[in-house]
Amino acid sequence: MSSMPIIGFSFCDNNGIMGFSWWRMFNSKVKGDRSRVILHCDLNNFFASVAMKLNPALRGKYIAVCGNPSLRKGIVLAKSENAKRMGVKTGMPIWEARRLCPDIEIVPTDYVAYETYSKKVQAIYYRFTNQVESFGIDECWLDVTHSQKLFGDGMQIAERIRQTVKDELGLTISVGVSFNKTYAKLGSDLAEPDAVMAITLENYQQLIYPLPLSNLLFVGKKTGALLNKLNIKTIGELAAYDVNLLKSFLGINAEKLIAEARGEDDSEVNDYDFREVPRSVGNGTTLPHDLKTRREVESVIYLLSEKIAFRLREQNLQGYTVHLSIKDPDLRWCGAQTSIAYPTNTVLTIRRTAMKIFDQLWVQKPFRPIRALRVAVANLTTMANVQINFLADVNDEVKNQALDHVFDQIRRKYGTQQIMLGETADSYQKLGFDLSLYDCDDIDRLNDDENYCGGTGQNRTDA
Ligand SMILES: [Mg+2]
Repeated sequence: MSSMPIIGFSFCDNNGIMGFSWWRMFNSKVKGDRSRVILHCDLNNFFASVAMKLNPALRGKYIAVCGNPSLRKGIVLAKSENAKRMGVKTGMPIWEARRLCPDIEIVPTDYVAYETYSKKVQAIYYRFTNQVESFGIDECWLDVTHSQKLFGDGMQIAERIRQTVKDELGLTISVGVSFNKTYAKLGSDLAEPDAVMAITLENYQQLIYPLPLSNLLFVGKKTGALLNKLNIKTIGELAAYDVNLLKSFLGINAEKLIAEARGEDDSEVNDYDFREVPRSVGNGTTLPHDLKTRREVESVIYLLSEKIAFRLREQNLQGYTVHLSIKDPDLRWCGAQTSIAYPTNTVLTIRRTAMKIFDQLWVQKPFRPIRALRVAVANLTTMANVQINFLADVNDEVKNQALDHVFDQIRRKYGTQQIMLGETADSYQKLGFDLSLYDCDDIDRLNDDENYCGGTGQNRTDA
């Protein structure tokens, strides 16, 4: 070892700032394509803005869009700009929002309207490029690199889109313009409502590097805490960190993370009609009252399974893995999953598998009450790609499929509520569910996964 040349060899200091090194000099070619022009468009206070459009009397008032308190979902999902200035935050219980802002108007959610306006806004984006990738209901990336000949440079296109959305729909957006998706998104975060912000090769170190790490999309709580321990607190500090050193702590993710911080994110903006096979399809619900018996649990799991199976079939998907998560009254999540020999999208198989998991997970006596349940089917494949393990007993599955198929046909023709198993209708009444709930996708949008053990992905909320 002592014969090793030491010229140019350097170590990272505690702050992760790399000293001079030959290794870096020879690897200093710029990674990532920096000639692209990417926009990130983010609707401002989307839910609250739609509420004001639907009810102009709300204009100028303090608004919080909240889940239904009688169903124990009484938390702020979105707020108006002025309510935000009073300290009202997403995820806050209604009573706290009222304490901070006594004049606040509580408005119920209207997902059908959000969906409608979201589609209208995306149709405007689509006039400028076919590469429009939505991220949640109120955000989109647009790759306008090849649209510049038609519509002007990135800033001009951004400005034009902002104005068009405002003129035609009366909604405002913040637009970030940059050379990759990560920076474009940070740009829209930095932009004022109804404004455009450019993150360029000239200004990115000045604008992006001082931002805290939490601004990066894929730095979750766990990764954030770990980076914090390494004394990496800003995006700039992460950008300056040595990739190999970080790899030793974070594994393969380190590379992607540092590339994002350095502005080398070269992920593409998907086409408007691009549909990726999702990682999982799931439904969860917070119950109007705690569940106290296995029988009640079975009813709820039945309802959830029905919705999931229907959504899977609509997307021509089947999955090999069923996942169940349970939240207790102390708001602690726990969950487990199990795989089956053949992929499924039938109600009865999903329910049976979820109940099997439940019986293993919730064996304690006496029965511990349950506040919320979530079922998901993962490990998905399109129906054309199914490889059945012929040793598996698929007879039941074939029968279940035939049953579900009949249900689907009737529902498509007459509506979702026109047919349900007697058991389902019964469950609804016994559990105090509003029958109309059956028609809305009750994905628990809230990011209450702090106490989650056995995890699925994070849900985003702020709209
Ligand atoms: Mg938004």
